[in-house]
Amino acid sequence: MESIAIIKAAQAGIKTAIDITKKISEVSDAIKQADLKLQLANLIEALADAKIQFADVKDVLLEKDNKIKELEDRLKRDSELTFNENYGVYETEIEGKFVRYCLKCHTEGKYIPLQVEDRRFTCNNCNQQYQRPEYYRAIQTNRKRKKRSL
Ligand SMILES: [Zn+2]
Repeated sequence: MESIAIIKAAQAGIKTAIDITKKISEVSDAIKQADLKLQLANLIEALADAKIQFADVKDVLLEKDNKIKELEDRLKRDSELTFNENYGVYETEIEGKFVRYCLKCHTEGKYIPLQVEDRRFTCNNCNQQYQRPEYYRAIQTNRKRKKRSL
């Protein structure tokens, strides 16, 4: 349920409890004991409902706090990443070494360091592969060198 709807329901429960309390305070001495007991039972029920509704509010707020924390952590982490257009991956430099992360997994909020191979980077989570163009350039350069030497 939307958090605003839960809060409105809880407020309605509290209003009901207040209304019942007003009725009880307005009771004249002439009212029967049975009517008083009925009003008190209604009051207890309204307060119990409000208590449950506020527990729901607490759960929703806790859920939202967790989501905000998760997004803040992600924003902070993303601010430390740069996009490497050559490979099409995010990367960061840690102690002089580049750590590259899977772009596909990143869109799902996961930070999966890529496994480095000669020709490509591979994600061990989703098996996505990212080509390393410099590997193919090195092969072409070697072929040209071999042709010249022949
Ligand atoms: Zn991946």
